[in-house]
Amino acid sequence: MATMDMLTSINNRYKMDLALDEQIEISKRYKRPLSIIYFDIDRFKQVNDTYGHKVGDLVLIKLSSLVAKSLRKSDIFGRWGGEEFLIILPETTQNEAIQLAEKLRIKIETFKFKVIPKLTCSFGIVAYIENDSTESMMLKADKKLYKAKRNGRNRIEF
Ligand code: GH3
Ligand code: MG
Ligand code: MG
Repeated sequence: MATMDMLTSINNRYKMDLALDEQIEISKRYKRPLSIIYFDIDRFKQVNDTYGHKVGDLVLIKLSSLVAKSLRKSDIFGRWGGEEFLIILPETTQNEAIQLAEKLRIKIETFKFKVIPKLTCSFGIVAYIENDSTESMMLKADKKLYKAKRNGRNRIEF
């Protein structure tokens, strides 16, 4: 329970932080590729303001299960913050992560949430390079995510 997000039942930030530390160690030691996808719901405040916090919660739950279903067993998925999510992709190059992020972006954009007309997310993708740490990878991912927002949302940046 200490590693699970209570609302969405996916991994919580504590667990994701440890998992990324661990995957970085593996990548470093065995020289294996590792990528992360950091994403944030677009205009989520508007969802709460228009439909209420309960509907917002339902959307977070549904989005989590939608994304979880689209991942491989070895991928590690969790809630990083309020409406921010992280996917850790072991054995995955930047190009493969980009392909997955684009697939997820379209899946979310076209999904019928029932309680709201439409939802989109913005994505930042980062591949591990030598000497990266959890902090440095998350910082880079945050910058890419911010760029995706700035460039119009519902898009990926890497
Ligand atoms: P942007 O496209 O720039 O990301 O806009 P945004 O509205 O998504 O971003 P902002 O950071 O302004 O708002 C995030 C919102 O997410 C505000 C906050 O109330 C909501 N939120 C965070 N956690 C939860 C939660 O657990 N449940 C609900 N219903 N809302 C949440
Ligand atoms: Mg947001
Ligand atoms: Mg946010």
